[in-house]
Amino acid sequence: MIRGLYLGRFQPYHLGHHQVLKQISKEVDEIIVGIGSAQKSHEVENPFTAGERVLMVTSAIKEFDIKHYVIPIEDIQRNSLWVSHVKSMVPPFDIAYTNNPLVIELLSEAGIEVKQSPLFKRNKYSGTQIRRLMLKGEKWKKFVPESVIEIIDEINGVKRLRTVTQSDQE
Ligand code: NAD
Repeated sequence: MIRGLYLGRFQPYHLGHHQVLKQISKEVDEIIVGIGSAQKSHEVENPFTAGERVLMVTSAIKEFDIKHYVIPIEDIQRNSLWVSHVKSMVPPFDIAYTNNPLVIELLSEAGIEVKQSPLFKRNKYSGTQIRRLMLKGEKWKKFVPESVIEIIDEINGVKRLRTVTQSDQE
């Protein structure tokens, strides 16, 4: 029985993440998705709450019909202790999946097997790019799964993103 951990911020969960999860679901028996920076929301870089991101991942992962756990993980101020922090929050796992260089370094130093995945259309399937499109009023829906569109619409996410970029200063 192999349990794999996939870590991300998912601001928002997009089709690049979805491709990675699809691949992981073929390689492991159970998937843990760790929702990083769980404490952050209502910011330009982090518009969605941990609960909203849990909803996005949970709704999208159903497609792969694999046992899964979606767990929010808050950041901590000390990178050297972060892996212990993550391990204290999630079920035991055998392998971790990430392309984030800092995350690779921290997990590898802790002796955890890390697997990187290919990047799928990184210039389009990118949280930064999707948030930029939302702010500019351009088409973003084709870059996220259908179920995620519904969630972002339901919570009025684009309006929130625009509001948090505003300032009362001239
Ligand atoms: P992310 O949502 O940007 O990406 C998640 C994963 O998906 C990454 O591995 C990324 O490479 C991959 N990905 C993104 N677009 C892709 C595409 N088009 N095709 C294929 N793969 C794609 O999240 P992230 O920044 O990697 O999340 C790491 C989390 O860990 C953050 O929340 C960070 O704060 C947290 N962290 C915290 C500490 C601490 O608290 N001290 C330390 C390290 C990391």
